[in-house]
Amino acid sequence: MLGTEWVVRWAELTAAAAHEHRVELIELDRAIGDGDHGENLDRGFSEVEKQLETLSEPTPAVVLRTIATTLISKVGGASGPLLGTAYLRMSSVAPDELDGKAVAAMIDAACKGVQMRGKATVGEKTMVDTWEPAARAALAAAETGGEPLAVLEAAAKAGSDGAQATLPMVATKGRASYLGERSAGHLDPGAVSSSYILDAAVKAAQ
Ligand code: ADP
Ligand code: MG
Repeated sequence: MLGTEWVVRWAELTAAAAHEHRVELIELDRAIGDGDHGENLDRGFSEVEKQLETLSEPTPAVVLRTIATTLISKVGGASGPLLGTAYLRMSSVAPDELDGKAVAAMIDAACKGVQMRGKATVGEKTMVDTWEPAARAALAAAETGGEPLAVLEAAAKAGSDGAQATLPMVATKGRASYLGERSAGHLDPGAVSSSYILDAAVKAAQ
């Protein structure tokens, strides 16, 4: 079972990854967007870390909701409300003790939140290309009795493959869609950062 400690560690490792990959994400976004994605995430998650220190009785749901409201209020770009909605949806399905099925339900809720907010589907070169296969893999792993770590590993692997699959895609949603065919040949920054978020979830559970 995973619990509050895992969620907090997940947020900390996400903040560390956002910081570590800041320049890479800026460069990806510079190629097909406006170059702020690395800055947005790094600033957002370092603010998340500060906010989490102020919680007196954290539960998984409280931590996830705090991450959501912080990202929605502090991250200027499209990714703030999108990821904020993902965390908000996760907070609404997260019990205090998380087994494999609960973890899979969280990832699935995150995916549905992103899709509800941004109206993108798979193949449009957005973070949905990471979250959708990740959710599908997580649900499949939980269905066969997978423990939380196995569910997260399956999600992260599928999410990473999904992010890599954005390379040849032509963007039809978000800022990159303004480039049309010229968006092909670059990874989508939000898909890549979402795969780092899922990697951090695995590391936090190990
Ligand atoms: P902005 O595009 O406002 O500068 P960011 O650079 O922080 O915001 O985030 C860009 C990322 O947001 C994209 O790489 C993409 O993954 C994601 N994104 C943009 N629009 C959508 C959408 N409608 N649905 C899902 N994800 C989206
Ligand atoms: Mg941007």
